Amino acid sequence: MENHQNPFENAKEQLNRAAKALNLSSELVTRLSSPERFVEINFPVKMDDGREVVFKGFRSQHSNARGPYKGGIRFSEEVNEAEVKALSMWMTWKCAVADLPYGGGKGGVIVDTKKLSIGELERLSRAFARALAPIIGPEIDIPAPDMYTTAQIMDWMVDEYSKVVGKKSMATFTGKSLANGGSEGRPEATGLGGAIILDELAKVEKLKIENCKIALQGMGNVGNHFALEAVKRGYKVVAISDSKGGIYAAEGLDVNKVISYKEEEGTLAGFPEAQSVSNKELLELPVIVLVPAAIENVITEENAGRIKAKYVIEMANGPVTPAADTLLEERGVVSIPDILANSGGVTVSYFEWYQNMHDEHWPKEKVFEMLKPKMQLGFMKGWQLKEEHKVSMRTAVYLLALKRVAEASNKA
Ligand code: NAD
Repeated sequence: MENHQNPFENAKEQLNRAAKALNLSSELVTRLSSPERFVEINFPVKMDDGREVVFKGFRSQHSNARGPYKGGIRFSEEVNEAEVKALSMWMTWKCAVADLPYGGGKGGVIVDTKKLSIGELERLSRAFARALAPIIGPEIDIPAPDMYTTAQIMDWMVDEYSKVVGKKSMATFTGKSLANGGSEGRPEATGLGGAIILDELAKVEKLKIENCKIALQGMGNVGNHFALEAVKRGYKVVAISDSKGGIYAAEGLDVNKVISYKEEEGTLAGFPEAQSVSNKELLELPVIVLVPAAIENVITEENAGRIKAKYVIEMANGPVTPAADTLLEERGVVSIPDILANSGGVTVSYFEWYQNMHDEHWPKEKVFEMLKPKMQLGFMKGWQLKEEHKVSMRTAVYLLALKRVAEASNKA
């Protein structure tokens, strides 16, 4: 049976599949199969009651062939070495698909932030930034937020880093607050990018937007903005969920009302004129487009055969295991891979870094205007390669990414 619990094995399997299709040298595949540098950091934090607790964190720097390492920092009890390594490899491909001058990195700390006071969270964030300081910098490695890390946390980290190096260094972190060097449009960027990809898919597949029913898993930053952008464009979001479960209304949900309801009630349970569905059931609903936008490994070989959607847009990182991917492909389901679908976030992170490096501040309209053609170009190039080589969209997008990384590694 496949080991879909280990995302790093999945990531290497995806690399191997694409490398075969591209005839990549085994030396380069070996080089790209491990991060260039992987650091484990054990660091003490003073808790409110005076105790000192040692937390464990990681930073994985996968490849800097195309530019400084780039990737988020995750705060979660689930963080582990395999996950961080996998996410850093995916960042290398993602930045290459988006044609950004970056390599791939990722970090994380094993912590349940809900158990920390605000003071403890700040001390932990600052301590981790201090520990990372020797290996990051605006031209070395540029962290950003990820699951359970926020603009506030980036603000603390950039402040701490600046103190360590003795000068303001805003471009070392992205995803900062607007008041502290963040970019306009960053919160919307990933979801908006996904909606732009959906539009491109609808164009090439000649989908009728008004008939296009979508089931969406996840109501965080990515899920909410994707849903809002999709309904703005006329698609029908018929199901949506958070970690506790979801709701379904075959004729479409009023997404604005769903988001306000969740904000007020703290749950989706009891939302009027919708039936409740589990996260498992949501994935198997009769829809045209399925959008996993929460966590890894939700579509596996166990449930892939029951997916009814014709298209999967991977807004989460790694939501489909390689074995499930094969099963979906055999059934003619087209998956738009995460490294393309959710690349809007890192693209606007790049815009933020660029603005910081050049002491500029762009209006939101400019950010969105620049994001759109970048997403469209990534999709178009991937789709062309898919048609040309008669491969899946995932393989096509990996071909695009790997080719660019290989060229930068002088190993094409
Ligand atoms: P978030 O923390 O804002 O939201 C996560 C959402 O997932 C929440 O609604 C939570 O309730 C839900 N969730 C958690 N466990 C779940 C489960 N077991 N089943 C169903 N839902 C569950 O995170 P986010 O920033 O929206 O990120 C979501 C995904 O998108 C992650 O895989 C992340 O790596 C990826 N991603 C995020 C960005 C970004 O810009 N935020 C960019 C690229 C990729």
